[in-house]
Amino acid sequence: MAFSDIKGQDDIKAHLQGAIKNKKFSHAYIISGEKDSGKKMLAEAFAQAILCEEEGIDGCGKCQSCHQVINRNHPDIHYVEHEKPKTIGIDDIRTQLNNDIVIKPYSSNYKIYIVDEAELMSEQAQNALLKTIEEPPEYGIIFLLTTSATSFLPTILSRCVLLDLKPINQEIIKKDLMTYHGMPDYQAQVCAAFSQGNFGKAIKLAESEDFKELKNSMVSFVKQAASMGAFEINQIATDITSSETVDIADYMDLMTIWFKDVLLYKSTGDKNLVIYQDEIMIIKRLSAEISYEGLENIFQAIDTCRKRLKANVNNNLSVELMLMAVKENIL
Ligand SMILES: [Zn+2]
Repeated sequence: MAFSDIKGQDDIKAHLQGAIKNKKFSHAYIISGEKDSGKKMLAEAFAQAILCEEEGIDGCGKCQSCHQVINRNHPDIHYVEHEKPKTIGIDDIRTQLNNDIVIKPYSSNYKIYIVDEAELMSEQAQNALLKTIEEPPEYGIIFLLTTSATSFLPTILSRCVLLDLKPINQEIIKKDLMTYHGMPDYQAQVCAAFSQGNFGKAIKLAESEDFKELKNSMVSFVKQAASMGAFEINQIATDITSSETVDIADYMDLMTIWFKDVLLYKSTGDKNLVIYQDEIMIIKRLSAEISYEGLENIFQAIDTCRKRLKANVNNNLSVELMLMAVKENIL
């Protein structure tokens, strides 16, 4: 993946390409951003560019080195793996990084290490890494990819260049989904809003059948909520919380966007502002049926449910209470 293939993140790209151009780069970078936001793509674009035989500021995509980077078999790029799923231990760092980085590059002038999910490093692992970051060999460059830079020791943070991914404008994402993924306008709009500026998340949604189902089930619930009985609502809560394909957090996000639409339509009457364009008739109906106070209650119920899910309170009950609150606030 070359820099030119990555959409958005212009500041980070400019920073990294400037470093390559001036041959003045840090030996340790932290790339911080949410899941699927493109952290690894940026680290790999940097690796491809700096290792490219053309020696430009972006990978040419044609030389042998570029091919090896793209196929993830370049001998001078090392992906630090971890055996235990939830932690990167001191042994992982010692054997794959500290003891390896002292060996000169195999076929190029640099050796690049990519540590994904670096927030999983134990304190001992970070301390072990610190020794290398303090005195790295001149050919060594380390990328720590993380969803949370705050999980690093201050000593690590102070020695790394921190690159923070920014959300991408939703209009840009929407246009991209329409142009390159053949998505109709109204669907692209929902995906873009849902992604909250995360391109990877938008693409994943665009291609996911589960997501379409999830959206349909949410819409079908809000359509019929008013006439539903306690038993039916209990059933829906059970379906959502026991399903292996449904991410409850996604369900909540979709519902938030939905009721924001209702609120926006209620206050402006402008249907062009609505995200769920294909469901405009129901949005209209609900905006007449739910009071402002009712909408506030619904947003509060969604918020409370999110907090309960995070705190691992009984998922089924939390979702059921939230769905009940939605039902009760529709006239
Ligand atoms: Zn190349």
